[in-house]
Amino acid sequence: MITVEEAFLAVEANVERLPDETIGLDKAVGRILASDVHSDVDSPPHNKSVMDGFAVRAADIAAGVTEFRVLETIIAGGLPTAKVTPGTTSRIMTGAPLPAGSDSVVMIEMSNLGYTDPTPEKVTLNVEGKFTAGKHQMARAGNFASEDLIFKAHHQIRPVDIGLLAEIGASTVTVVAQPTIAVLPTGDELVDCSQTPAASQIRNSNGPMLCAIANGWVPVVKDLGIGVDKRADLEAKVRSGLTHDMLILSGGVSAGTMDLVPEVLASQGVKTIFHKVKVKPGKPIFFGVADRDDGQRCYVFGLPGNPVSSLVGMHLFASTAVRKMTGVAPNAARPVRHGAILSAPHQTRGDRPTYWPGRRCDCSDPRLVEALRWNGSSDLLSLRDAEGLIYFPVSESPHEAGAEVEFLPF
Ligand code: AMP
Ligand code: MG
Repeated sequence: MITVEEAFLAVEANVERLPDETIGLDKAVGRILASDVHSDVDSPPHNKSVMDGFAVRAADIAAGVTEFRVLETIIAGGLPTAKVTPGTTSRIMTGAPLPAGSDSVVMIEMSNLGYTDPTPEKVTLNVEGKFTAGKHQMARAGNFASEDLIFKAHHQIRPVDIGLLAEIGASTVTVVAQPTIAVLPTGDELVDCSQTPAASQIRNSNGPMLCAIANGWVPVVKDLGIGVDKRADLEAKVRSGLTHDMLILSGGVSAGTMDLVPEVLASQGVKTIFHKVKVKPGKPIFFGVADRDDGQRCYVFGLPGNPVSSLVGMHLFASTAVRKMTGVAPNAARPVRHGAILSAPHQTRGDRPTYWPGRRCDCSDPRLVEALRWNGSSDLLSLRDAEGLIYFPVSESPHEAGAEVEFLPF
């Protein structure tokens, strides 16, 4: 049985990034850049006024000149036509290019004009306070220059990035494709959640949960319905699942007589990479790969049927595979871990490290986390209050209050 670290390494080593695709900027949020993105413009593109006012030579103001001849009015989107010389000025609007000869802008509030007054031939500028070259203007390329590297490959595009991408002309972006994911819960005892279970039946909670989690990662998720513990049914559903980039099964992966999933997967050409990880809950987890006829691969996770076991396998390993496929930086595929501090003593049992439902405490130190009351792998109720999983290494004695632990938020 391999360790959690070995399982992560196996996922990282075996999962390949999907091909690139070019998409419109309006579809880009959440996607991961396939390559570096450079600017095709200077920002700003010209020396630019950041105030409504008058473009002047700072030397004139320093020399005490107050009366200026007005050459023209320059609006944002327009171009200056006249050069500012000693004793002259041009009226200028915010965003407009500074005219040649000028190096600064006097705010309209320091003139004898109002915002709506038409441009006169002369203006009086009474500047108060320190005034030097560069005042109220931004130098061309003051933010960044054409050809500058703006976003690096592997960056995940956020809503706040869209403005900058638009500014630099990235109306389309080349990102890594996203996998399609099929979900197949298995078990003779399962009925759809719309039904009232008969004695010996339970509702299929994993199917909807795993589809929902997968839908948080990628847009295309195929719910294959409930697979019964019969070879023929499982084979047909697995064949259909393998046409996707990832197939996630739950149930049927341990050592019971009806645990047919590993042999059915093998019969459909899925090669085992690991089966069983030293982790609690979720030990019997299976990971394999199938080469498809179209040259692509399907990555297959067989998660143990107990819902929290399924969740742990999904959160740790399936998510890592999806991030690797969608092009995150090689060292960033694993789930996020925060350093946290245990708020109260907590005992874990057994010889496997445990991922335990937990949450941040409602108190002043944001690093404090508490382990929730939890009955084990079938107990979904504690997830209602959980914000993530707390990682506990194997320990005979209780993990003490104040101990440093890793917290993996959902
Ligand atoms: P298995 O991994 O098939 O041995 O199942 C382990 C436990 O998880 C059994 O008690 C199952 O009834 C339960 N289980 C399996 N699949 C699901 C599911 N889709 N939803 C809820 N519980 C399940
Ligand atoms: Mg089963």
